Amino acid sequence: MPQALDNTVALVTGASSGIGAATARALAHEGAAVALVARRRERLETLANTIRTDGGVALAIDADITDAHPARAAVAETVAELGRLDIVINNAGLMLLGPVADAPDDEWRRMLDINVNGMLHITRAALPHLTRAAADDPRRVADIVNISSTAGRVARGGAAVYSLTKSGINAFSESLRQELQPQRVRVGVIEPGTVDTELGDHVRAELRSAVEQQTKDMEKLSPVDIADAVVYVVSRPRRVAVNELLVRAADQTW
Ligand code: NDP
Repeated sequence: MPQALDNTVALVTGASSGIGAATARALAHEGAAVALVARRRERLETLANTIRTDGGVALAIDADITDAHPARAAVAETVAELGRLDIVINNAGLMLLGPVADAPDDEWRRMLDINVNGMLHITRAALPHLTRAAADDPRRVADIVNISSTAGRVARGGAAVYSLTKSGINAFSESLRQELQPQRVRVGVIEPGTVDTELGDHVRAELRSAVEQQTKDMEKLSPVDIADAVVYVVSRPRRVAVNELLVRAADQTW
């Protein structure tokens, strides 16, 4: 049966776990060949094998995209191996929480490096390929989806730098949307609420229990809920651009 993304190629960053892994599977299920980008090679290989067993096409690329060179190489390998690039999901990210006054500089640097610079490096390297795909069959449109957060919409104490990166992603995405609109490269942001992933595991140990306490009685979103949202955004007809989607857990108050 024909699928919405047949004959397209998607690159997903942060595909070794959580939202990225679920998104890669969902895009493959819709017919896209998927490039899986993250640092943990073994996880990527396992996911690639699962996708292949399900009848899909997947390419594992281990790369630390905080540097421009490996990010460019990941995009180049995708196009060399899979033939083109129609869809980029900038999902790789890190959330380190805590008051500004106590935060180690290194935590800020690491968040800015992946949440902001990783997205910038992949996006710029992908642009010529996306523009070409948007002028071509099968869809005559291409997509960039940036995974932001509710923290990109509503800043809260204890998440200042994470919010800075995510609201920056929203601003960058809107600016890029305007720049790429003539070429039919659509740009969207998805702002997930609390999703059950490994994201919280990187929070400093002394702060983790306070963070866990906030969400302990909540039914969190599953990564597949966000993967669904991504598939919705990229599978719209070319006349439709879904530029922003806020997806909270129904139990979430913030
Ligand atoms: P995970 O920790 O499960 O996933 C983060 C992913 O980013 C991993 O695959 C990790 O892979 C990858 N990554 C981190 N650093 C790098 C790097 N330097 N180079 C390449 N890849 C890297 O968390 P989530 O799935 O929850 O997070 C995905 C996105 O969703 C993030 O942007 C996060 O901010 C956002 N988000 C998550 C929410 C949640 O509640 N979980 C809520 C709102 C937004 P590896 O370590 O193998 O490199």
